Amino acid sequence: MPAVTVCGGGNAAHVLIPLIASAGREVRVYAPLAGEAERLRQGILQQGEMRVTYADGRIVAGRPQTISADAAEVIPGSDLVLLALPAFAHGPTLEAIAPYLDAGATVGVLPARGGFDYQATALLHRAGRTPRFFGLQTLPWACRITRYGEEVAVLGTKAVADLASYPAAEAAEMAGLLSSLLNVPIQPVSSFLALTLANTGQIIHPGIMYGLCYGREEAVYAREDVPLFYQGVDDFTAGKLQAMSDDIQALAAALAAALPDFNASEVLPLYDWVCRAYAGDIADDSNLASAFTTNRAYAGLRVPTRLTTDGHYVVDFSARYLAEDVPYGLVVVHGIARLAGVRTPALDSVISWAEERLGRRFLPAGSSTGTRAPQCFDVWELAQLAGSQPIQL
Ligand code: NAD
Repeated sequence: MPAVTVCGGGNAAHVLIPLIASAGREVRVYAPLAGEAERLRQGILQQGEMRVTYADGRIVAGRPQTISADAAEVIPGSDLVLLALPAFAHGPTLEAIAPYLDAGATVGVLPARGGFDYQATALLHRAGRTPRFFGLQTLPWACRITRYGEEVAVLGTKAVADLASYPAAEAAEMAGLLSSLLNVPIQPVSSFLALTLANTGQIIHPGIMYGLCYGREEAVYAREDVPLFYQGVDDFTAGKLQAMSDDIQALAAALAAALPDFNASEVLPLYDWVCRAYAGDIADDSNLASAFTTNRAYAGLRVPTRLTTDGHYVVDFSARYLAEDVPYGLVVVHGIARLAGVRTPALDSVISWAEERLGRRFLPAGSSTGTRAPQCFDVWELAQLAGSQPIQL
């Protein structure tokens, strides 16, 4: 039977490897970054396997057959290649694996974030490969490595995760395959365009950063005073999150009117998504703020910080909550909205604020590289974004 190769050596990869091995498939790992392949090998040697521990005490164990920092050693002979990576690593990883992909191999990305279909289509075509890929709207778990190469803790599992594919007609088959490998419910949706708009991480992460830090960017904290992230959602933050979600809903409605294949009902408002994904984890779902502050899957996580030389903590604006979710999320949506002639004032205010924090320029979409706005892939007409097809490049 062909192998499944997991690309990456982070939290998500630590969950995927034992789960897929325990489902009876040969698992390989492609981990090219800074000695991770060797660290994984050393970790596995400690107990002979990798373990996923769940909050209810369950443990799933398994080990990969092969670990390599060289794509040529693991990608050939893999029918499924899974990218368990932050979005800024998708491009370099696709470039590294594309020359070795078998004909008919499928690339899966968990989570896809925004505009993955544009980037994958461009890079796979350039390498002479026929694009065949799927993406998840979210990672099915909140997870953190507890011992590298040995153990990862799953803090929470989402009730369901959506999947889009190319070709679009294969979404149900791919959702079924992934669901059986990972033992989590995966639901097919009709297009990557819907998945890009439905990426709630792009609202939640930059929106909460904005809500908690706007006007307090220079604040200095003692370790124990660093604000809680999700549990810190107050009325101001919830208002911003709501306005961002409303912008995306307005865009989805405009796309549904303009593109016959686009299904706006697959783009859930933020409140509906949180209640659906975390069904059972939320003590008080009476409003958007309480759906975050009483969500046990989010409990205890704090604003990302860095330690200053004098022993205090300041907010780390270079962390993924802005560095991933703005260029690979909000800017993609802003770019699509420009094509549709729809204004996105709440999203734009957060993007502009993030530009200052990151020292980068993103607006107008397509004016800078390093984002996945459609304009970066030479898409300037809404008609190029047919609902169920990736753009033709
Ligand atoms: P992580 O930080 O644990 O993993 C990062 C890994 O990516 C690194 O260990 C490395 O193996 C790889 N990587 C990074 N840069 C690379 C590069 N340039 N080339 C090749 N490989 C590179 O991340 P994670 O927690 O596993 O998250 C993966 C994705 O899932 C991210 O998009 C994250 O936002 C998302 N996500 C994670 C969680 C969670 O609880 N961990 C929850 C929801 C969503």
